[in-house]
Amino acid sequence: MIDTSDIKIKRTSNSRLQETDFSDLPFGKIFSDHMFIADYEDGEWKNFQIVPYGDLTFSPAISALHYGQAFFEGLKAYKQENGDVVMFRPYKNAERFNKSAERMCMPSLPEDLFVQSIAALVEVDKDWIPTAPQTSLYIRPFMFATDEYLGVQPSTTYKFMVLACPVGAYFSKPLKVKIETKYSRSSEGGFGFAKAAGNYAGSLYPAQQALKEGFDQIIWTDGRDHSYIEELGAANVMFIIDGKLVTPSTRDTILKGITRDTILTLANKWGIPVDERRVSVAEILEGLKNGQVAEAFGVGTAATITSIASIGYEGELYELPDPATAGFSSRALKTLNEIRYGQAPDEFEWNYKID
Ligand SMILES: *Cc1c(COP(=O)(O)O)cnc(C)c1O
Repeated sequence: MIDTSDIKIKRTSNSRLQETDFSDLPFGKIFSDHMFIADYEDGEWKNFQIVPYGDLTFSPAISALHYGQAFFEGLKAYKQENGDVVMFRPYKNAERFNKSAERMCMPSLPEDLFVQSIAALVEVDKDWIPTAPQTSLYIRPFMFATDEYLGVQPSTTYKFMVLACPVGAYFSKPLKVKIETKYSRSSEGGFGFAKAAGNYAGSLYPAQQALKEGFDQIIWTDGRDHSYIEELGAANVMFIIDGKLVTPSTRDTILKGITRDTILTLANKWGIPVDERRVSVAEILEGLKNGQVAEAFGVGTAATITSIASIGYEGELYELPDPATAGFSSRALKTLNEIRYGQAPDEFEWNYKID
């Protein structure tokens, strides 16, 4: 068993903290001073290190580059008003990390090691956690295959790494989205449930086409005949229909979001009926026409909750009620923020304190 005292820390002598403008934090472009890195060799994880953030060198033949044996996670750390630093539900990410690893034929990482590696990096770079309202430190754990070999087979060596980015408050105007009827991001028997790099590569072209048609984002549908709703871009999707919170049940084509689970838990606590089931495109179109769909929104770590303003389907555009009047999603967002920043009781013990 590995413990955190096995992590070698090499601190930078050249911090970029002073020259970083914390009033302008574009998502995913600014990296903290350090990164975590570990190697998988001879069937075990070793060389746990925190080193200055910077370039790596490796062979151009590594299998991650050719066959996409790579996946990632995403979570956030927050600095609370009393100075406590917390991560939001990191063991959920650890669990999903290992589900992705298994599907991609990559080695698992003990959950404690996953969480402790991240905690150690956040501790070293804690001055990089922004403190303005709704800001956070976005944490990006990932693993990739490093065998120098062009044969198509699972690699025997890997790297596990963690990067951290200070990120600003996420403001997005309500989205104009398109129900996709041609392309798919995943299919039954595929690996849509894994945060595998290839899933995102494959989604770029359809997203670019949607952008050209004037949409901000895609509502993905099932890969078989595009008649059931699955996700919104790289977020889960939810609707308020007749006072019920409706969301597609998770399956192998849908990523099981931690924000999704968090919001379903809050809805249950508030006594709002929750309907996790297959959600047909026909039902949503019908509900948009007759006004039964009161709210539609995406949920995920990066953007938290993003409202949908209008939904396009085969040349028709359906408007939702003004998102500014959305009762459920604004309540959920407010509560989630209060819990994360330590302003409301954390009754489900979602915050993991780093000390
Ligand atoms: C990461 C991700 C989500 C959201 O998951 P969270 O755990 O809430 O961040 C949803 N769908 C896809 C495809 C994703 O990659």
